[in-house]
Amino acid sequence: MLARQHIPDTLDLHAIPRHISAMSILKIARMGHPVLREVADEVADPNDPEVQRLIDNMIETMYDAQGQGLAAPQVYESVRLVVYLPPSEDDDERDPRILINPVITAIGEEIIPGWEGCLSVPGLRGMVPRHNYIHLTALDDNGDAIDEDISGHHARVVQHECDHLDGVLYTQRMSNMASLIFESEMPHIFAAHQAEEEASDTASEEEEADA
Ligand SMILES: [Zn+2]
Repeated sequence: MLARQHIPDTLDLHAIPRHISAMSILKIARMGHPVLREVADEVADPNDPEVQRLIDNMIETMYDAQGQGLAAPQVYESVRLVVYLPPSEDDDERDPRILINPVITAIGEEIIPGWEGCLSVPGLRGMVPRHNYIHLTALDDNGDAIDEDISGHHARVVQHECDHLDGVLYTQRMSNMASLIFESEMPHIFAAHQAEEEASDTASEEEEADA
């Protein structure tokens, strides 16, 4: 998590640098807005203060919306920038990750289904097939290179977010639209999965947060 900035008891806005005082919650674009269909532009300079300010605001917005990830086009900025919370055993210890100009390539052929939600498609969940293993390259918010193989739920979140940079929503990746349901009805799905697991003893995907 970004370090919380110290706020003095007596607040003199003129004395606080803009990058500290300007953190704000951004409006999230919803399915149907053209910005979500655009192919986003590369970030020219990761160290540009405007880019750093956008990253800070996107992280604040993601936390405020209780999402797991957020891509810049979801806040009306058509640039190739993503923030997300990597999956972790301990939810309290997850630091946000920043991907600038990410590029992903599939490793192998394995495709697995999993539930996804999206802050731009509020209230819904759908079952989406994704690559189980991918290679990811990107720059972080310091401009340092990320170059790694990731898998499973982590790979799913990154594929979901990178799709936003190419104007694609998870609903367009679904193979069976019958699995597009309201989040509030998920308990029915869990009950059915539990019954299936007890019958076949197979593992199932956990519910996904919005991204
Ligand atoms: Zn999304």
